[in-house]
Amino acid sequence: MNIEKIYKDANAYLEGHFKLSSGYHSQFYLQSAKVLEDPKTAKILAGALAKQIINSGIHIDAICSPALGGIISGYALAEQLGVRFIFAERVNNKMTIRRGFEVKKNENFLICEDIITTGGSALEAANEIEKNGAKVVAYAALANRGFCTRQKSNIQRQDNCKLPLNKPLFALEDFIFDIYEPSNCPLCKEGKSKAYKPGSKNN
Ligand code: ZN
Repeated sequence: MNIEKIYKDANAYLEGHFKLSSGYHSQFYLQSAKVLEDPKTAKILAGALAKQIINSGIHIDAICSPALGGIISGYALAEQLGVRFIFAERVNNKMTIRRGFEVKKNENFLICEDIITTGGSALEAANEIEKNGAKVVAYAALANRGFCTRQKSNIQRQDNCKLPLNKPLFALEDFIFDIYEPSNCPLCKEGKSKAYKPGSKNN
């Protein structure tokens, strides 16, 4: 499966000057929402991801995604694995589980994102799950931005990966783009554009 082609065909592989959720700037942005607007594509991608998880033998009881980005991929994956799905959301900037979603003691949770960059939001969601007495046994995303190491890839983990070393990350592809600290961003230095966050304002 050619994930890059799927993103490009859906006009979801954007070039410009972007501000990522992690705070870094980048010339490229993967707009997964554009890929997932076709439920058939969502099903195919989630099916491929589910296959990796089933083959690993890791038992999953439920999936939790950090809102908003991870919700569609997490839900599609839960459908493929036949497990329930909940999401965590930010309230006053703190990741929280609301809406009466239950996290039961000793349940095995998988945290699902659309894209894992440094894994910061995924880790915050995982901490909320574990605070409630359940176990986070794995992470998953459609694609990995190359800072963390996914299963079946030998890309080296970078220092800014926030995911725990002892939990597997399942993803369909690695996308390695340069990311920059805002203070050290060549696109900012060029002065022709301001970084923006896709999904915010009119984007
Ligand atoms: Zn910049």
